[in-house]
Parts: sequence; structure tokens; C-alpha cells
Amino acid sequence: MTAIEPGGTARLVLRLPRGFCGGERALMAFCAAAGAAETSAFVDASGQPGPGRGELKGWLRLNPRASELRAASLACLSGRLSGWFRAGSARGAAQAVFPDGKIHAKILLFRNLLSGPGGRGEGQLHQSAFFLASSLGAAGGKVVWSDVSLKPGSGAAPSGLEELGRLLKKNPDISAIGISVLEAYLPAVKRLLAFLSSRVDAFIFVGGMFPTSHPWHCLAHLPGADFIVRGAGEEVFPFLLRCLGGSRPSAGMTPAMAARLCRADGVLGRAGDLFFAGAPGRVNRVGSMDSLPLDMGLLEKEDIGHGAVFSLSRGCLNSCSFCTSFDKGHFHSASPARVRDLLKMYRERLAQLFGGFGAIPESARGVAFYDDDFLSDLPRAVSIAGFLSRGDLYLNFIQTGIKSVIAAGKLPKVLGPAAFGRRPNGTTREKTDVYVGTENFSEDELIRLGKGYGYAGIERAVSSLSGARLRQAHHLILTNVFTGPQNVFENLIRLIRLRSKSGPYFDILRPAERHLQSFFGTGTYRAVEKAGFLCRLKTAGVLALPGFPEFDFPLVEEDRPENALASVAASAASGALDAGDFERALRDSLAAYIRAADPGIHARRRARGMGR
Ligand code: SF4
Repeated sequence: MTAIEPGGTARLVLRLPRGFCGGERALMAFCAAAGAAETSAFVDASGQPGPGRGELKGWLRLNPRASELRAASLACLSGRLSGWFRAGSARGAAQAVFPDGKIHAKILLFRNLLSGPGGRGEGQLHQSAFFLASSLGAAGGKVVWSDVSLKPGSGAAPSGLEELGRLLKKNPDISAIGISVLEAYLPAVKRLLAFLSSRVDAFIFVGGMFPTSHPWHCLAHLPGADFIVRGAGEEVFPFLLRCLGGSRPSAGMTPAMAARLCRADGVLGRAGDLFFAGAPGRVNRVGSMDSLPLDMGLLEKEDIGHGAVFSLSRGCLNSCSFCTSFDKGHFHSASPARVRDLLKMYRERLAQLFGGFGAIPESARGVAFYDDDFLSDLPRAVSIAGFLSRGDLYLNFIQTGIKSVIAAGKLPKVLGPAAFGRRPNGTTREKTDVYVGTENFSEDELIRLGKGYGYAGIERAVSSLSGARLRQAHHLILTNVFTGPQNVFENLIRLIRLRSKSGPYFDILRPAERHLQSFFGTGTYRAVEKAGFLCRLKTAGVLALPGFPEFDFPLVEEDRPENALASVAASAASGALDAGDFERALRDSLAAYIRAADPGIHARRRARGMGR
């Protein structure tokens, strides 16, 4: 929440361990947009000497519109050291930290902010909130939960704001709020921030995919956010709260406090006329997933009635060109021993909730691993399946990348139906065992999406899972800007083929995604831009900062095929595809394509007595 008098001075505190390597202009832009005539910056760029780095540590006075920090060499910037800053630093540090190292703050979190009313997992505690609340709780914080949920899209209003208003009134001592932001939800997040900013005197932290991929755009376009945190929040969020020492935005922030906050990596923020950034080029990752606390006591019956969903590994070793995950190409996980301990704790929590081990319902015994790539570390997966099959919990489902299934070849027996609960006294429910991030079955499309495998690999993976008698659901994104009708047909023909070979073990995740969403900055977005087809991206508008076109952020809602016949073919297939009838999907698709490609064909056929 920024307040700069027009023509006044904005202040920046920057820790740039890699020197001025990009992005700092965003801060300049923000100061300029807020009306500052001049910016006074404390810059600590005293990292290792080398290209683009320097020994600068001191105050700079800069004209925000005239300065182009990215291009400037440190030597040509006239700096002046501030004794005041250094004196303030020691004083601020003493005041900022809680004496016992604990947080002692009340923090508002959202149970499942991005589920949307009626959406998947509505009302259930989301894994990101579960991890964050566990870490904050272990550090002494008290978490207050809100059930507000958001939907993607431009017109989507947050649901549950009235209840949130009551919650805030009941908890006037909330001093921090954590919000997760995805690109598709930006309009709704802006509305939520506006609601919160007008009602609470609490620092608002935003994290998640959008702040991680586009921290400077986030700073520019979410003025209601006080802190932008890149990457995993479990360690850095408690650190920042400790630095804040329970203070609130209305108390103001000294440059000394900001400098302390800047010791964290991947953090940007603002308070009044002060802007700060600590190693903004870095993304936070937890040191070890084994060391993250998970408080099973946070789980209630409504969270686990249909079984628990855990994400105990992060990332994958792939690099799909449409993906916005900051963990892509980087897999890390909790060890099998840690997973076993957590599952023991989960089982004890179940017994507590249901009144004894014998009273735990069968559905709650199912444990799902909603990871990006559960099978990425096969020995780990085998170990987890092994101890699950020896106990009374079972794998409800796993999610994995298909390349890991291809690499695994024939799956070890332990990853068979017994581990997935199909055993005497096990589950009798019809369920999907494995969700696979296949995305497409057409050779050209797989290349466009940067998937790194072809259809032959998919066949091997499907046969490997079917051979293990596992029911699989493959993610499918039917179209993108470059899709042609032949790609749609190729997909449908291959679905028919895979179903005929694997029977009920093969399916797609239904409803299938009709359109790719090429978010700004992704590889697929750049490919669309390069081809001159940006007009084919349906957007919910563009977030803009007047005078700074480089911060335009288009809100992409869906890719629309440049080839109109591809849209016709895909639309016609959708109904049957979503009903799981791939043959009818192909018939419907071909018929619609023929009608659209040659509108006179039916009249000519009738004239020749050939029927339709
Ligand atoms: S496999 Fe999934 S998480 Fe990994 S890069 Fe591809 S889409 Fe992203």
C-alpha cells in the first residue's frame, strides 16, 4: 500500500548479490508511476566481484524516469553512503526480532483459495496451505483460516467475502495475510486484495506461480500486496514474520527494517514510500523436504473423508513449453523414511478423528500423491508402495509424468493393484489409480508442447500401466493456436487404438481441456508471438502501468486455433470425448469437419440419392 506525495521522494532498499542483472527497472517504474520525482536507493551489491557485480554498498540518488539501472555500470552511478542507515540498521535489528525467536503473530491463510465454488477440492485444505500453516505453526504463529475461494477469469468475484469480513472483525490482531496467486486468477485476486486492504492493518504476502515467474509485474500490478515472495514459502515466510516482529503497515517501516527483510532471497516489497528487494533474481526452495514440519492435527474429517491428498515431492525433470511451474526441471522429495513417518502420523490422526483404528472408514484410508511426477524417483515410489501394501492404508491415486513411466518400463509388482487398494478388505470403488501428464497424442502437438517424447513412448507407457492392471487417466489438451484438424483426428484415432489395446485400464481425464492456456512469458506464448498469432489468444484484458509498456501483462484465457476447421473438429468431438466414447467423438468430429469444409456436400449427396 503505497503513499508517495506527487513530486516526493521514494526510497528503495536493494540487496543484489548478482549485481544489477535485471528487473530493477521495475522498481524505478513503480516509483515513477506512484508520482515520485526522485528515488533514493540503498543498494547492497557487494557480492563476489565479477562481470555485472560490484562492491557498491550505499545510497544512490536517482531520477526514476531518467535512470536505466539495467544498462548502467556501477562505477558511473554516483553514490553516497548513509551513516544514518547504518545506525538505524543496528537499532532496527534489535527491535525487529522476537526475543524467543518465535513468531507470536496471527496470520490469515485461505484453506483452498483457488478451488472456486463447486470446484475440485472445495472446502478441503489445499496442500500449499497445509505446508505453509504447518511451518508457521511450528515457528510459533497462530493461523486463522478463511474459506474464501476464487474462480479464474475476468468477471469472477471472490466468494465468501461476507464471512471473511466477520472473521476479520473477530480477529483484529491479524498482522499478516498469505495469498497464493496464479495468472488465471489475477482479476479475482485484485478484488480480494482491494477488499482486504480497506479492512485490515496487516501485511499482505503474495506467493505462488505468478509472483515467482513475474515478480516485477506482480509488484506493478498488485498494489494491494506488501510482499512478493518467489518460490517455496515454508522457510522464508516465517523468517520475514520474525523480522517484522508483529509490526503492522500503519506503524511504518524504516530502511533498517527493510534491509533486514532483504536478507531473505526472492523477496520484494513496499511500505509507504519505501520499496525493497532482497536477491529478487532468486527463487526460494526448501533445503530439504524431510525437514518441513507437517501438522496432521490441521486435517479435519472434511479434508480426508475421501482420503488424504499429499504432495510430498515437488517438480519434475521435464521442461514442457507451456508450463509455469517454477519447479520444472528440478525434482526434490521427502525421503521414503519421512513419508512412512508422515503416514504413521496421518493414521494416528484418522484414529483420533474417527474414534479408533477399527473405526476408520475405508475411503479415508486412501492416500493420494498429487505430485507433478511421483514416479520420477522409482526406487522411492517402490519403497512407499511397499510399506503401504503391508499396512491398512492404500494408494488412492498418484500423479506422474509420462516420461517416468516410459523410463520405468515394466512396473515392479509392488506398484500393482494391491498397493492401490484392490485386495481383500480393500477398496471396491471404481477409481483412477494413476493420473498421467500426457497432454497430447499427436506427434506434431507433442513437439509444440515441448513434451520430449513421441506417440511410441506413450504406447509403451500405457501398456506398462495396463500390464500392471492400473487404471490410468491421461491429461489431454485438445487444441492450441497451431492445431490443425489433422491433429485433432490423430488424437482421436490414437485414443481409440489405446482403448482397444488396454480396455478399461486406459482413459483420459474428463472433461478434457479444450484449449491450451499459453500464459505470458511461457515458451508457447513466445511461439505464438513469433508467428504473429497473438490475436488468437483470447484474453481477459491486459494489466498495464501507464508509461511503462514493458510491464503490460496480458491475461490469457485460452489459445484458439488459427485454423478454423481445427476448432470445428475439436468442438464437435467434445461431447462424446467427455462421455468417454472415443469412436463417436471421431465420427462427430469428422462429420462436422466435412460439413464445414464443404458446405454443399450433403445437398449434392442427396441429389444423387446417396442420403446424408
Ligand atoms: S511434466 Fe508437468 S510439471 Fe513438469 S514441466 Fe511438464 S507440465 Fe510442468
